[in-house]
Amino acid sequence: MVSLSSYIKKLGEKMSNMQPWKQNVASIIDFAEKIFPDVEVVTRELSGKISTTNYKNISLRAKKLGSALEKFGIEKEQCVGSLALNTFRNMEMYYGISGMGAVMHTINFRLHPEQVVYIINHAENRLIFLEPVFAPLLEAVQDKCPMVEKFVLLCAKEEMPETKLKDAVSYEEFIENGDESYTWPELEEDAPCGLCYTSGTTGNPKGVLYSHKSTLLHAWAGSSANGLGLQKNDSILMVVPMFHVMGWGLPYLAPMNGIKLVLPGMGMDGAALTELIEKESVTLAFGVPTIWLGLLNYCKENNIKLESVKQTIIGGSAVPYSMIKQFDEEHDINVIQGWGMTETSPLATANLKTPAMEKLSKDELYKLQTKQGKPIYGVELKIVDDEGSELPNDGEAFGRLLIRGPWINKRYYKFEEDAVDADGWFDTGDISTIDPEGYMTIVDRAKDVIKSGGEWISSVDLENVAQGHPDIMQACVIGVAHPKWDERPLLLVVPANDKKDKDDIFSYLDGKIAKWWKPDDIVFLDELPLGATGKVLKVNLRDQYKDHLIS
Ligand code: AMP
Repeated sequence: MVSLSSYIKKLGEKMSNMQPWKQNVASIIDFAEKIFPDVEVVTRELSGKISTTNYKNISLRAKKLGSALEKFGIEKEQCVGSLALNTFRNMEMYYGISGMGAVMHTINFRLHPEQVVYIINHAENRLIFLEPVFAPLLEAVQDKCPMVEKFVLLCAKEEMPETKLKDAVSYEEFIENGDESYTWPELEEDAPCGLCYTSGTTGNPKGVLYSHKSTLLHAWAGSSANGLGLQKNDSILMVVPMFHVMGWGLPYLAPMNGIKLVLPGMGMDGAALTELIEKESVTLAFGVPTIWLGLLNYCKENNIKLESVKQTIIGGSAVPYSMIKQFDEEHDINVIQGWGMTETSPLATANLKTPAMEKLSKDELYKLQTKQGKPIYGVELKIVDDEGSELPNDGEAFGRLLIRGPWINKRYYKFEEDAVDADGWFDTGDISTIDPEGYMTIVDRAKDVIKSGGEWISSVDLENVAQGHPDIMQACVIGVAHPKWDERPLLLVVPANDKKDKDDIFSYLDGKIAKWWKPDDIVFLDELPLGATGKVLKVNLRDQYKDHLIS
């Protein structure tokens, strides 16, 4: 008889008898090519034309791209930049670039040009793929990006615009050099595959470098019953941009599960989205609240019901009660709220419908759905006070939300020091509660909390209540200086119609919020300033209105 421990010793380092596995995200598209070759990927191209391809074609063209990159001289672990919309070519880049061992570096084209320059240089991009519409943006700054050798425009040869971009070539011409029988290299377990910079409001953007392993684990977890609620026969509309946190993992999740993908390109307005939804029988749609606000308004104005859609997954900012209600009442669509961040790949929590939720009244259900949800297996959450002591999960105590897990950032790209504490916890910068059932609720961003007379007021809660007023389309609450209380809440409102009645809004809030939470004033605005990822830029508003109550 040989004991297990002496058997393991004999094996050397190997602790079990299972086969080793070299992770490469391109194994997903290889799998989809073999198992789901005909599953469709539909794109609204920049011309407005809707075109259809499938996973087999995407896989073959991704291999051509991978081999063309190798021929160009791109080496493993080099970051290849992209300023790209959600299209089939972007899907090919996700696999072609990462699969050949380089890093798919997605750049948010809505950032300030100076930030785009910073990011391109920081990531040492030699090659940049871009939509033709972004050529003027890069023409204006290319002299400040000396490391870039070549620009590839995401179009066919005959669609190439006149451009001053260095050594510009069309994507189709670039991949002509490639070989569709190219085989993906074997990569180290923690080899990098993707890079995304956080759009911080202060200081330079910081890069989060994802690995093949973290990306695959994240995609598996997102596919699980507690993940993103995918069903085999879904048709997924991916409105979430592929330049932000690797498109919430959908470019991996969809082919991994053989699910149809519908990509809207530039067409993010209500008319374009409803056309795509109807034509492609979309059942599951992913987006941020600001985009959905536009879609819901468009549907209301045009008397449209989104018949095919069963569920929508919303994240990026808190989902207001009124939006959850409107989706359910007007479209029979269930809202799944998700929470995550660039540093968390992003999926960390999701609020999926459970059998117990079916028994709730509509009001109870919508209230529960305003919570950001329960953690998915693989990530751990805790809340701590300012001294770092863990707070109870009683749904009342709120503190800084910490997270850890195998797809959570450990250190920012090129930083020397870790971004986590000694036990591996990453401070999200969000303030939350966790209830006894495990539901996490975001109370505020740490930097957005309002401290009135030493007590915290949740801007998210206040916005949620205010947004329920029928004359309010969008509400935003910020803390502004106050001579007696240090800070008091100010409510900024984008009205839904011509009515701008402060007294009516104040009396609507009465009884729905604690008396001392009542905003000191209401300001009506035509629109709220949005950041590069569709979040309201509270920092700008705080600056603009800082003296509102003292002047
Ligand atoms: P980003 O890294 O740009 O994706 O931003 C991440 C931040 O967005 C989080 O730290 C939250 O503050 C916010 N966020 C994301 N999802 C939600 C959500 N469902 N509710 C409230 N805030 C959210």
